[in-house]
Amino acid sequence: MATAKTSTIVGALACQKDSFLKSLETQVVSCSEFLTKNDSPLYKVEMVDSVCFPEGGGQPCDEGFITTLDGNKIPLKSVIREKLKALHIIDKPLDIGSSVKLIIDWDKRVDYMQQHTGQHLLSAVFDQYQLETLSWKMGEQINYIELPKKIDDKLVEEVQSKVNQLIFESHPIEVTTDDSELDTSHIPEDYDQDEGIVRIVKIGNIDANPCCGTHLKNTSQILSIVLLNQVSVRGGHSRLFFTCGYRVSKLTSNYYNILKTVSGVQLSCQIEDVTNKVDQLSTNYKKANSTIANLIKELANNKATEIYDKFSKDENAIAYVYREDNNPEFLTSVQKELMTMINSKKSKEIDLSTKQTLILINGNHQSNGGMIKILGPKATDISTELKQRIGNLKGGGKGSTYQGKITKYDKPEIESVLLYLESL
Ligand SMILES: [Zn+2]
Repeated sequence: MATAKTSTIVGALACQKDSFLKSLETQVVSCSEFLTKNDSPLYKVEMVDSVCFPEGGGQPCDEGFITTLDGNKIPLKSVIREKLKALHIIDKPLDIGSSVKLIIDWDKRVDYMQQHTGQHLLSAVFDQYQLETLSWKMGEQINYIELPKKIDDKLVEEVQSKVNQLIFESHPIEVTTDDSELDTSHIPEDYDQDEGIVRIVKIGNIDANPCCGTHLKNTSQILSIVLLNQVSVRGGHSRLFFTCGYRVSKLTSNYYNILKTVSGVQLSCQIEDVTNKVDQLSTNYKKANSTIANLIKELANNKATEIYDKFSKDENAIAYVYREDNNPEFLTSVQKELMTMINSKKSKEIDLSTKQTLILINGNHQSNGGMIKILGPKATDISTELKQRIGNLKGGGKGSTYQGKITKYDKPEIESVLLYLESL
């Protein structure tokens, strides 16, 4: 029977001693059920040592798999830290004492180290401007650091060139455990600092910070940093987005491809002319909208004149205006134009509370519902009849006005309504 062994604490894991180690042969120390998800059990496994970094310091946990002596290849669901222990989450139980090999997804680890080490360097440069990094987050493509205030474009450019200069200068990155003079306020509360190990990450003589994560060995391995947009958040803080490493060239290609499609396919111009072309389109769009608004007003005025004439001749007249689309703009405009005529001409023959009745209605079974407005003494009678013909009509009113909404027309309903309105 295998002797029970103890595991290495987080802080002294193989991946923390050598972040360039891609695999490790080790033994299982403990294995217990973790939680049951959709009836399939998961297990948390402690190893003698690990090359898999558990989540921490803003860095996600490693991905990878465990191979057993009998040839099983078990993917890692996650690696978590529980106080001082690193736990490997998998969907198969492992025998205590058995030998296994841990293999990490190396490309992902390199990417994580580039983003994470890049953030250390970026924050170190902002520290020189008394701009403390309040928090940071690694994203799938883009990361951010949260700063106490918004940074002007000139400083963003200055910091970006300083950080890239430090990358070019190839400063060595080392981890030490001499923590005598360091601010340890950012270490998680559940990490036992007396029993555990506080690791200090030193970038040349530029920066020293306690951090449990995995880091590159030299600033040159960050390759490049690009600073992107800023977003204001609570308390006047600002999130400055950035990306590092191999992601920089991928992001540049993605952005270039977007611009190429926009310029070549959508705007038929050179990339350099996109801004001018969009300005031009925007001006034309505003002009077109203003022309449409004027045309709607003109059409509405014609319709209102027609109704005014009808009402002038017959004090019991009923008129309706119908639009197939459910945009209320035209109907509102007709009502406005008609009311202006009535009020300005002070005609005693026309009175929409005691004499004539106006019905405004729009939409059909293809539009997303519609609206109805009735002004006049017959509002109640007509709305009662319309409710018989439209299943999804909801609304109300008092006296000589009725206002309703149709959430959805069934197919023959609007035809039946129009026949009815025509018969009035
Ligand atoms: Zn770190």
